[in-house]
Amino acid sequence: MATEKEVLIPSLGKLNQDQIPEGTIKVRNLTVAEEKLMVSNKLLPTEKIVTVVGKCLVEPQNFDINYLPIVDVIYALFEIRNITFKEPYEFQVKCGSCNNAFTHAVNVPDDLDVTFAEKEIEEPFEAKLPDAGNKLGLRYLRAGDQVDIERQGRQRAIRSKGQDTEYAHILQLSRRIVSLDEEKPSPAQVEKFVEGLSVTDAQHIREVTEERDFGIDLNLLMECPICGTVHEEFLRPDANFFRSRKSKRTG
Ligand SMILES: [Zn+2]
Repeated sequence: MATEKEVLIPSLGKLNQDQIPEGTIKVRNLTVAEEKLMVSNKLLPTEKIVTVVGKCLVEPQNFDINYLPIVDVIYALFEIRNITFKEPYEFQVKCGSCNNAFTHAVNVPDDLDVTFAEKEIEEPFEAKLPDAGNKLGLRYLRAGDQVDIERQGRQRAIRSKGQDTEYAHILQLSRRIVSLDEEKPSPAQVEKFVEGLSVTDAQHIREVTEERDFGIDLNLLMECPICGTVHEEFLRPDANFFRSRKSKRTG
């Protein structure tokens, strides 16, 4: 029998009101198939997380995980890990000060600073660019956008033999633009527009669309048990994240 858990997601479903009106989804534990997927190299990192959470999503039924904000997907991933292994996530940290390695354990998501949405969210947001003066309609990126950006950025880099590595950055901005001076531009038009933006305008678009009041702080502070130096590490849900302590011990 699968272990299932109801999870209150950080966005409280405010970007998916029709399907998630109460802000809760239901997830189940990982099976061997998903654990294998997590450690395979077939999928790109974000794609892996979104795919695995999508497979473990029990409710709402027939909901496309790509429409959730990535923060919610990562939060769900933590809960899935929790009900699968029922133990903290442990990883090795090498202390740069005394050169000793130590193990740090973190309970996800309980040890992390999570902020739940308070305000109602209504997309698109209007923004006027400080330099160019254009009026934009903007939206938040969803998990599906992040997966697409990662994949397309990678394809472009491979096709250009490593010359064009900026495409993902262009997409990061252009995917947020839904209208340009009251018109609905084509993806190609938006990309061209973004390429010509000033740094100030690009920053403005980022600020408007990242000013959410919900999120997870993935920065972990830890103290070296030997010399006392405080380290800051960014929590990356990589392949090791989905190996239990027991399986790590046996290789
Ligand atoms: Zn140390």
